[in-house]
Amino acid sequence: MRINRIDHLALAVDSIDAALPFFTEVLGLQVTNTDVEEGQGVVVAFLPVGDSEIELIEPVHDDSGVARFLRGRGPGMHHICLEVDDMDAALERLKTHEVRLIDDQPYIGTGGRRIVFIHPKAAHGVLVELYEKLPGGNGSANGRSRFAGRLPGRDELRANLDELRQAMVARGRVMAAGTRGFWGGLRRGRNP
Ligand code: ZN
Repeated sequence: MRINRIDHLALAVDSIDAALPFFTEVLGLQVTNTDVEEGQGVVVAFLPVGDSEIELIEPVHDDSGVARFLRGRGPGMHHICLEVDDMDAALERLKTHEVRLIDDQPYIGTGGRRIVFIHPKAAHGVLVELYEKLPGGNGSANGRSRFAGRLPGRDELRANLDELRQAMVARGRVMAAGTRGFWGGLRRGRNP
């Protein structure tokens, strides 16, 4: 198993709209893509930084894990995602070292990539996502932008995010429990 790079750093925010001016106008980053994570009840925006990305995560439903995360801890660092070249080898190594995972089985993300989350208790307080590299390119959102490589203007971006939020609300409630509810249960530094 080899870690290739940091794929993304995910930051939980109450509002992507409210957070964006800092990241775009102050830091000079650009949003290249937006997306929804249906099971998590969140909308996300990706801002590339070199070969990696910052991912802003905003809950749409009050009962999403990220909404609970924000209520418990406030906005901030949510997880780090590392790209691995060989997920089978990674899983094997985690098993050998008896590393606690959030879910027993990897779940399937965009493009058929397998994803696992390592529990923060096994990773010194950091939620670590391992993301499988697929043949023919890295997994960053750059390659699958809904803006087709253009940089959306502020108004276009706001309209797009609104559309994503409304579509998600229209589809109904997020899964409140089960394997996809884990994000809300994470409270750094709070041990049972
Ligand atoms: Zn992630």
